[in-house]
Amino acid sequence: MKNDTVSSIINIISHFLCKLVLSMIMSLDMKTVFILIVLGHLFSIVLITAYWRTHKKDRTLNIFLLAKCLQGMAWLFVVVRGGVPDLITVTVANSLLFAGFSLEAVAMLKLLLVFQRSTKIMYITLTAATALSFHVVVLFHNTENIRIAVASLGTASLLVLPAYHMLRIKQTSLIMKIIGMLYAIAILCLVGRAGIAINFHEKLGFFTPGHFQNFAFLALFLIMFIGNTGFILLLKEKVDQELLRLANHDDLTGILNRRTFVLEANLSIEQHAKSQEHLTLVLFDIDHFKKINDSYGHHIGDCALQELTKHIRLQLRGEDSFGRYGGDEFAILLPRTDEEESDRLVERFRNVILQSSMPDIPHPISISLGVVTIVPNRQTNLESLYKLCDRALYDAKELGRNGAVRTRVA
Ligand code: GH3
Ligand code: MG
Repeated sequence: MKNDTVSSIINIISHFLCKLVLSMIMSLDMKTVFILIVLGHLFSIVLITAYWRTHKKDRTLNIFLLAKCLQGMAWLFVVVRGGVPDLITVTVANSLLFAGFSLEAVAMLKLLLVFQRSTKIMYITLTAATALSFHVVVLFHNTENIRIAVASLGTASLLVLPAYHMLRIKQTSLIMKIIGMLYAIAILCLVGRAGIAINFHEKLGFFTPGHFQNFAFLALFLIMFIGNTGFILLLKEKVDQELLRLANHDDLTGILNRRTFVLEANLSIEQHAKSQEHLTLVLFDIDHFKKINDSYGHHIGDCALQELTKHIRLQLRGEDSFGRYGGDEFAILLPRTDEEESDRLVERFRNVILQSSMPDIPHPISISLGVVTIVPNRQTNLESLYKLCDRALYDAKELGRNGAVRTRVA
């Protein structure tokens, strides 16, 4: 009984809210929304240009700015309608708009890293086909209803691919998902607007009120407002990711740098102390690396470091951490790995390097390894494990190199 009352109250409130939103949308004045779109575009162009001044080399940003300028010019042409012959404003404004939306979609696809040669050809074809169909209508069957239908469908088709990728790619951010949803809403509104225009028997003007006209204008407003802000946020997100990658990885080899390896390892030690599982730390160092530098040059030495990390990486499991500790010394943390399993892995690392050929080095190179396996407690940290491992590595060098030594913890 109590539940019934609550659900009927919720029903009444949601019904009231829906009616309110619908009546708000229906009471929108098209010309006011249109002025907001034009002003919004002009001010976003000013803002994006300010951002662009310090990021001129970013091709994606250049394309997006050009797209916004073309769209802004298109809306300005619509504003001056009446003063200039209709044929010119309609032709020029729509051509600019198709090119603007096409470039906006291209910028988004580039940001998503899904813009390929085939996509480029597809966009050139789609934009040309939309512009051509529109102008065929203008020349041979110039009614506003058909023009609105063709322009709406053409614009919608240009937005389909970015919307699809934004909503489909799993690891995209929330910002990208929101922009994808906005594009999807805009596509639906534009298709609805085209459908209404085709089935509308009376003459449909640019500002004729109606459900789909209102939704279409609202969608354009949303694309302008959130699309612009969203694009800059996405761009910043990409730059942040790159900065984070640079801060966490070693320049030469691309694996974790010492600082990040230590952070990851300490976290893992803490988790293993809680779960009371085995964990193994391996330290290894290239044998006689100085000689390689001296004999073949520093550059060949660099290439050997890169090749070596590539070969070791291929042997690692997803949860293992691999970092460059400095110079020719590397560390590997093997979670949930006991002595027996780590002995097998360490032997594999040693063999892989011994058997791999390094560019421009005519002889095999070898590594020496120090290994320690423990079930950590709350006091264990990487520093204490490192000391034990380093001792083992030192012994491996003393024993003649190209081998592994294990330190056992009492
Ligand atoms: P050992 O078998 O005892 O390890 O002998 P080693 O010659 O390898 O001696 P050590 O590990 O102490 O020397 C490391 C050398 O690695 C010294 C340094 O010139 C070289 N090195 C350090 N960083 C780089 C680098 O980024 N690139 C190159 N090419 N060489 C480096
Ligand atoms: Mg060395």
